[in-house]
Amino acid sequence: MSEKRIEDYTLSDVVGLLEESVDAVIIADSKENKYKTLVRRGFFSDNLVEETGNYHDLIEKLWFHLANSNEKVVGDYKSFVSYYGDFKGKYSRRLKLYKEGSNEPSIIQLNVYPIVNAPDKYIFTMDELADEYKQEYMTTGKVNAIQSSYLFSMYVDLVEDTTGSINVSEISDDTVNAALKYSEWRLMIVNMIGPDDKELFLKVTDPEYLKANLAPGRMTSFDCQMVNLEGRLIWVKLIFNRVKTKNEEDFRFVFLVQDINDNSEELFATLKKYENLAQKDSLTELMNHGSIKTEIINALDSLKKEGEPVALMMLDLDHFKNVNDTHGHAAGDKVLKHFSGLLKEFIKGKDAEVGRWGGEEFVIVYRGKNFDKVKENAEALRREVEFSDFPEIGHITCSIGVTEVKKDDSFEKAFERVDRALYASKESGRNRMTVL
Ligand code: GH3
Ligand code: MG
Ligand code: MG
Repeated sequence: MSEKRIEDYTLSDVVGLLEESVDAVIIADSKENKYKTLVRRGFFSDNLVEETGNYHDLIEKLWFHLANSNEKVVGDYKSFVSYYGDFKGKYSRRLKLYKEGSNEPSIIQLNVYPIVNAPDKYIFTMDELADEYKQEYMTTGKVNAIQSSYLFSMYVDLVEDTTGSINVSEISDDTVNAALKYSEWRLMIVNMIGPDDKELFLKVTDPEYLKANLAPGRMTSFDCQMVNLEGRLIWVKLIFNRVKTKNEEDFRFVFLVQDINDNSEELFATLKKYENLAQKDSLTELMNHGSIKTEIINALDSLKKEGEPVALMMLDLDHFKNVNDTHGHAAGDKVLKHFSGLLKEFIKGKDAEVGRWGGEEFVIVYRGKNFDKVKENAEALRREVEFSDFPEIGHITCSIGVTEVKKDDSFEKAFERVDRALYASKESGRNRMTVL
């Protein structure tokens, strides 16, 4: 054959040659869920494919690697995959596959050709790459991994006050460029750091700070926002790693900037969710005892510092125990929810916060309001509750205590007064508003 001139080759010659060169040729039917192996050699002679077999099973094994897992295929690989191998057109991919019992991966070029006019049938060819191409593939993979997670890296010598781009052989062959002084670099880069983080950046990148706080071989990092190439602020992690050395006077560092934006946004959303959960009463979704107490203390603080008026209102449902006794605890819960809804509506548009103090007791803290207006509002709220239709029970009333906080009041003192006002409303027959 090798004597043949190019002009004399026919298509069937070439098909024959492919049969001798390609490592695996498979014909498969995704609908009938079966495949037949027409060529099987090299990597595939004792691996992965059978003479005939279940097509989905084959795809699952391959998909495990398509999904870039660096694990070996194990018995329960099916739990990792959800893909069933219907290809829309020609498909080509390089896969990292392991031979049974080997730690050295083989890189396999996979090609899938849908058969014309037979939508569920495919020809698969699979070929193991020769070693030199395998190296190229592995290096590209590494570079991609490094480039996608590290925005840049630098070598810093604090004694010489130099910086250098790092010679990572997978990324570039550039030699270290020590033209930029570290002290200058720092003042240049601070312009790219988000406004809230500039101060922190200057603190932790200060040579004296790094020298004092980072022992040889140790790493420190902090998260901040940085302007990316599109001018958008993204979250990054700045990492300093001090080179391991026996000389205490040797201050060399590797500095990396890692893009953590996607993870950070997810993290912040979760933190926000937990922050909300931690501050809310689960039944009524109003602020819970702890967070309304903090609101009151903050309001008292503004009163002391800025002289902003503060008023407290305490509300307690009348004879609520009867509701539980007569209609059951679940009906009682509904009443509490309905009452909370009225309170939420009530504070809308007012500079006020409402919380559940406990049981059927609620607190409203008002800021910056004329006290006559607060008293008017409290009376209006009492009447609104009295005439409101509550689920399952019909009607219920509440008693209210109101007080204006004085500049020299402690939290306890102001609270004791509003509590006394509420008690006075109860004593004088309930469904009342008392001011103290
Ligand atoms: P008063 O007019 O003097 O305030 O009488 P009251 O019955 O409202 O007051 P009391 O303090 O005697 O009873 C309060 C009741 O509130 C007792 C308790 O079982 C009920 N309670 C507290 N928390 C909840 C809750 O989350 N759900 C329900 N359904 N009931 C609750
Ligand atoms: Mg009560
Ligand atoms: Mg009570």
